[in-house]
Amino acid sequence: MTPVYIALNAGSSSLKFQIFEESGDTEPRLIFKGLFEGLGNSPHFVARDSGGTILDEMSWGPEQFGHEEALVHLVSWLRKHQDGRQLKAIGHRVVHGGAAHSGPVLADEAVLAELETFVPLAPLHQPYNLEPIRISLRRLPGIPQVACFDTAFHRSQPEIAQMFALPREMRERGVQRYGFHGLSYEYIASVLGDYDPRLASGRVIVAHLGNGASLCALRSGASIATTMGFSALDGLPMGTRCGALDPAVVFYMLREMKLSPEEAERILYTKSGLLGVSGLSNDMRTLRSKAVVDADARRAIELFVYRITREIGSLIAALGGIDGLVFTAGIGENDAATRVEVMARLPWTGLALDERANLSGGPRISTGSGPTAWIIPTNEELMIVRQMRSVLSAAQTRLAS
Ligand code: ADP
Repeated sequence: MTPVYIALNAGSSSLKFQIFEESGDTEPRLIFKGLFEGLGNSPHFVARDSGGTILDEMSWGPEQFGHEEALVHLVSWLRKHQDGRQLKAIGHRVVHGGAAHSGPVLADEAVLAELETFVPLAPLHQPYNLEPIRISLRRLPGIPQVACFDTAFHRSQPEIAQMFALPREMRERGVQRYGFHGLSYEYIASVLGDYDPRLASGRVIVAHLGNGASLCALRSGASIATTMGFSALDGLPMGTRCGALDPAVVFYMLREMKLSPEEAERILYTKSGLLGVSGLSNDMRTLRSKAVVDADARRAIELFVYRITREIGSLIAALGGIDGLVFTAGIGENDAATRVEVMARLPWTGLALDERANLSGGPRISTGSGPTAWIIPTNEELMIVRQMRSVLSAAQTRLAS
């Protein structure tokens, strides 16, 4: 039987999945991918093959159909498409691993209880990430569940880079910089050497520019600083999140605007960023198509680019220089204009854009003998599967010894 792995990414009303099989090569191979949307309301399921062709689609009425029903449906769907394959393990993207987890863990009830203590640190994501682990432990006993954290990769940072200048008691309560998008950065770090060996051992800034956006400074492939901090709200402006903000703005919202903490939180997470500034859309494609005629769309993009380049400057200072800049995720990989505008603000770094290569998708998009710039597609789900395999093989080694 060929072992297969499910990589899950659960949100409040969605469950995204990718299914990989052992291929005999060093890397497992993607065989199916898809998602459930509208969970708890009017759920819709779509499954595709690795090339994106739809294999199956289903909708349900507004009856109660949540994450549990979705997971059960997915496992039985997989059984129908099994063809000599056997489910070996499920890997879960979990936003928060706290200060202690610097890698993935095999999840059992005790680990789940520990991860629940991080819910106050990421109330909008952590509960939904943990739900499928809880369900799987109950409904699929015997199938290992592996928690893969967005924060873990950043635990290699120097202590100073993880600190806020706050009273010590707050650090002891866990108020510190955690950093996120770690699965994406770890994947990029793992493939840098395939593009240029000098990147793998050098000072590289990775720009993960998607709906969520952040930057990470890598030295010899390890994170030494990142733009997100205590939460995934910090750093760059994003699709709907504000990015770094003077904390006094929050006091103003509460005290003068008389908003509740929940209302203020909703504005900062869901009504700000590209959407808030443009008043139009959180989607870069829409903003680009309107930018010629719409000054607010233009301003939203300009602010996004301005903040990216300012933060790149800060990370260059943390690294003591730059050997490479990598663009990844939805905007980073696909929006040539954002790459042009970011690079146009960085001539002082020695980075020089190769316009033709930029338009044709790279991978190298710089000219000259200075630092190099690249487009490298990220693959967070493959990173989850790699982490699953390493946790399972470590557990096997422990059992054997
Ligand atoms: P998420 O953080 O949800 O995974 P993605 O990495 O998919 O987000 O990125 C979504 C963003 O990428 C959106 O702003 C979208 O407009 C942008 N994007 C995707 N494809 C393109 C494209 N071809 N050109 C410009 N922007 C794109």
